[in-house]
Amino acid sequence: MKYPELNPDGVSVKGCSIIYAPAGQAGEYSALATNPYRGCGHKCAYCYVPIVLHMPREEFDTGAIPRKDFLKRLEKDARKYQALNITEQVMLSFTTDPYHPGDHTLTRQVLQMLRAFGLSICTLTKGGHRALRDLDLFRPGRDAFASTLTSLDETFSKKWERDATPPDDRIKTLRAFHDAGIFTWVSLEPVLDVEATLEIIRRTNQFVDLYKIGRVNYVGLTKTTNWKQFTNDVLEVLAETGARHYIKRDLQPYLPAGYHNPMRVDQFRAEAFPILRD
Ligand code: SF4
Repeated sequence: MKYPELNPDGVSVKGCSIIYAPAGQAGEYSALATNPYRGCGHKCAYCYVPIVLHMPREEFDTGAIPRKDFLKRLEKDARKYQALNITEQVMLSFTTDPYHPGDHTLTRQVLQMLRAFGLSICTLTKGGHRALRDLDLFRPGRDAFASTLTSLDETFSKKWERDATPPDDRIKTLRAFHDAGIFTWVSLEPVLDVEATLEIIRRTNQFVDLYKIGRVNYVGLTKTTNWKQFTNDVLEVLAETGARHYIKRDLQPYLPAGYHNPMRVDQFRAEAFPILRD
């Protein structure tokens, strides 16, 4: 059936720009997203967002500021999604971090509003423990919590993700969401150190429901890493651990023919809500 109110992507509503369907590599992560802030204070050296937004890096790194009239504009979009009975997860965020080091009160308000209009929520963050404030808003049968991990080593992380929380803090937070019955996933992108990435899977798969695995772009490592070898190695570790995963398009040329690699899976833990299986 065709829905004339939807864009050709089949999920975003025409005329909406605050809740939107991300394109390209971001689209592999989530069908819908929203970005409440401009800028981010985590100061990741590999961050591509200033390039995408044509924003000076110094300004972007100064910290996140709420986008003008954000809640008002979000409500307008959310109403349109509700009118079409769309309950898809909306992910925060691609061009900022919902749990950046500054005042992120707005994040809670955004999550509350998305819920109020019948949408599901997902956050992707390097803000670790800061996300625990909103744990009560995540529903086991519907929502998801995600974190990016590039290493288990704090010194290494500090070098690349200067003002993000340490890996250990992010891992503890993932575990806390998992223990609360929330679907958890980890973005293994960028891959800055092959061995570190493999070790993350080995060490976290007991409380991570899904890994989304990419490579690295925009930094020199793109040229020096053997991505075919990396793909082989990562598939081996995934097979050993039984970890669920999605291999992003950048690495798909190295997958064995016919490899089962679904881009979208239900991001809720059905076992937490047995009624969903009926
Ligand atoms: S947390 Fe994300 S948005 Fe913020 S600086 Fe790092 S890569 Fe960029």
